[in-house]
Formats: sequence, structure tokens, C-alpha cells
Amino acid sequence: MSKKVRVRFAPSPTGGLHLGGVRTVLYNYLFAKKHGGDFVLRIEDTDQTRYVAGAEAYIFNCLEWAGLVPNESPLHGGNYGPYRQSERKAAGMYQQYADQLIEQGHAYYAFDTPEELEKMRAIYKTAENPSPQYDHTLRMKMRNSLSLSAAETNQLLAAGTKKVVRIKMPQNETVSFTDMIRGEVSFDTALVDDKVLLKADGMPTYHLAVVVDDYLMQISHAFRGEEWLPSAPVHVLLWKYLFGLEAMPQWAHLPLILGPSGKLSKRDGARYGFPVFAMNWTDPKTNELTEGFKEKGFLPEAFINLLALLGWNDGTEKEIFSKDELVNAFSMERVHAAGAKFDYEKAKWFNHDWIKHVDSNLLLPLVKDLLLQNEIPVTDESLLLQVISLIKDRCTLLPDFVQQTSFFFKAPQQLDVAAVKSKWTDEKKTFFEAFTETVLQQTDFTPAALETAFKELAAEKNIKPGELQLPLRIMLVGGKFGPPVFDIAVLLGKKETAERIKRGLKQF
Ligand code: GLU
Repeated sequence: MSKKVRVRFAPSPTGGLHLGGVRTVLYNYLFAKKHGGDFVLRIEDTDQTRYVAGAEAYIFNCLEWAGLVPNESPLHGGNYGPYRQSERKAAGMYQQYADQLIEQGHAYYAFDTPEELEKMRAIYKTAENPSPQYDHTLRMKMRNSLSLSAAETNQLLAAGTKKVVRIKMPQNETVSFTDMIRGEVSFDTALVDDKVLLKADGMPTYHLAVVVDDYLMQISHAFRGEEWLPSAPVHVLLWKYLFGLEAMPQWAHLPLILGPSGKLSKRDGARYGFPVFAMNWTDPKTNELTEGFKEKGFLPEAFINLLALLGWNDGTEKEIFSKDELVNAFSMERVHAAGAKFDYEKAKWFNHDWIKHVDSNLLLPLVKDLLLQNEIPVTDESLLLQVISLIKDRCTLLPDFVQQTSFFFKAPQQLDVAAVKSKWTDEKKTFFEAFTETVLQQTDFTPAALETAFKELAAEKNIKPGELQLPLRIMLVGGKFGPPVFDIAVLLGKKETAERIKRGLKQF
């Protein structure tokens, strides 16, 4: 029987959630759903020096917004907890594996102080090797249980000397595994350093914790960013030494997301004015705010759609996918290995398309919130719904709705008088005085009927209707924007339309 599909997203709570992180979540989620599996979220907080308050709650908020909620997590519980590595450490879940590796001769104690490590880097630094590593070439020159005698080691241990546990990387082995995206990947162990597995404070490092936890949580597939590929040989060896390679999950290392100049960074976002994080994130230390896709006005449906396409396609030209369609179409084999370029204009295109096609009822609460935030009084939700349907194809980002809808609820404070003034005439004034009456008396108050009446009156007064439409728009809306002007008038209603025309006439 093949293993039940269990995947995991394993963020470290160190700050905002980057586009690449959410894409990793998404691919995990899609894969789990497609195969009827479980999607686990594990908090990797073993590096206490990088811990940032609020980052964990923020991650959950982002996933909630994006609709990518895990089945198991510190928040949702599950049978494989605890789901925070710090709590797993407190429950003593790692030490025995470090001990086992030492007993087997695959790991050793190292007593070097930070000063000694720094000295090593200074002494062995050469032009060819500018940053010497703690590896098979240098380990015997350092202070560890391989270079010291058993008696010396025992003495240091008995005295409670500060120590870490390091993996003993084999000197000349080739370690390989099959990546679901990249195929067979091989590494020469001679090039990999003796990574720390257990730190002086007894905390496991990421390398030990990720392997132990993936094993204990029965993870079947592990998907993570390409930046973790260099760590893979360490993890493969740990699997081999501790649990056997048959138990190892299938790996996929997802392609980098590229910005205008190399790997997409937070700085790119600030420089080019686009969001890089899922939601607004304020760094608690510096108070620096990094903008999020949510607050910028992206729909979560559009956000996950555009993320899915950053590195994957279904083999056709199809670009717009609902979440269910993604679940059906997704396969890790169709993710490409090459970096995926993030194009903000294209991202906006996705959002525009989603706004255009999504049910207006779904937009209603979002737009209403935005209008209220902008102090536009919205009391009539059914009017707002009609307005949304009328103007949504003009909106790319949600805040665009504010300009496009506010004049329906609040008469424009200022009219773009300059746009009308130079061509304004007494005849036009007379026309609009008469048109006000037409509006008020119109029995068939529909856009088409009103337009016909408008044109008939213009013909009667011998004015081209084209010259009258702009003044009408400015009176109703305030500026040169908005949907067809007779649609606006009908939604405003007879009374409000007539009042706005009267008010406009006073200003022209
Ligand atoms: N804690 C790692 C991170 O922050 C997880 C890497 C992995 O998924 O193995 O990205």
C-alpha cells in the first residue's frame, strides 16, 4: 500500500510572508487536495535569535485570507503534534536522534568557542578558499570528539563545557536523490561542511529538526524553495543514518521567483512600487511597513491564480483557473526548474480579469468596506450591487472601486468645470434646464429611453448631443470618468439627477 499523501509547509516565524512562501503553501495545498491527503503546517522556530513576535499569527492570517488553510497546525491541532519545533524540543523529541548519530559515528561533539571558529576562518582563508568551512579538511585541526582523545572528550562533557553536535560528512561519497521537478540530483559530500545538528542550548538546528519531524509526522512529499537544495545532501544522509532512505519523502525544490534584477526581494517591491508580501507586514523592530497584495487590492482568488502560474502551467494556453480547477490540473511534474519571472503588470491583469468575472455579490462586502473607510456613506446595498456590476470591468485593483462608485452615494464636491467652461453657451444652459424637466417627467426611466429623450431634445434645440454628454457627465460624476452616463443617471434616480444638473448649471 502506498503511503498516505501528507505534505507540509514549514515556515520560520521571522517576518512577513513573501510571494515565494505563499506559492510553496499553494503547491503543497493543491497537491494534498488532489491526492486526498493532509496539509500540515509546522512552525520551525528553533532559531530563537531570529524569532519575531507576531510573525506566526501573521502567517495564519495570510493563509486564511488566501483560502489555503492547513488540516493540521499549532492552531488547528492534529495527531502529530506539537506543531511548533520549540515545543517538540521541550518534549525531548530531538536529543535521542543526535545521540544515535554520535553512537553510530555519523556525528560528533564540537567544543570550539566562537573565537576559535573565527580564528579558524582567519588562519585558513586563502584566495581560492575565502571562507573556510568546518569540514573534513579542517575538522581534525579543531577541538572536537574526533580530534581529542576519548578521555579529554569525557572530561569536557563531564565538566559541562559548551558544545554542539556536528554531522560528520563523508569525505568522498556521492549523495543523490530524485527531485520531482529536477530529476536526479547529485552532490559530492567532500564539498559540504559538517553542519551543526544540535546547538549549545540543546535546540536542534533546522537540518536535524526537519528530518526528524518529517519522519515523525509521516510526511510523504516535501516541497520547498530552491534555496534549500544545497542542504539536501545533509538531509539525505540524515535520513539514511536515522530512518532508512525508503522512508524519505519525495522532494521537490521549487524554482526561484525572479524580480526585475535577480531573485525577487522586498527591496524590489519598495523600489518598483509593487507588493511582495501576501498582506501588510510591519516589522516590530523597525516599524517598517511592507505592503501586501491584500491591502493593495488583490482578490485572494486572483492572487492564488497568479501564484500558481509562477512556475507552473497545465500545458495549454489557459491562464485563468479557479482553486478547484487548479486542484484538478496541478501536477508537480509540470512545475519547471528555471526561475519564474514575476511581472506586476501581468499580476494586475489577473486581478482585473477576476474582478470582471467574479459574482458581484462576492465583491459587495469588500467594496462596501473600502467605501466606508473612505467616508462614503453606503446605506443601500442593492444599489451598490447594481453599481458594482456596472463598473467592475473598469477596476483593476479594489481601491479603483472608490473612485468609480463614490459619486453614486455622495454628490461630487468639486466639478471639473474647466473641462466644460470654454465651450459653454447659453443654448446649452437652456437645453439642460429643459432636460431637467424631461428627467423628472420621464415615465420609462431606463438608460435607452433617457438617451433617446436626450437626443430628441438636443435635435430640437439644434445642438449636437456629443457636445452635451460631457457637461452632463461632469454634473453627475464630477470628472471625465465612470460608466455610460445614462446608466449613471438611471441608478442615481430622477430626483438626484435633476438636482445634480441644477447644481452644475450654477457652476458653469
Ligand atoms: N524552515 C524552513 C523555511 O523557513 C523550511 C524549509 C523546508 O521546507 O524544509 O523556509
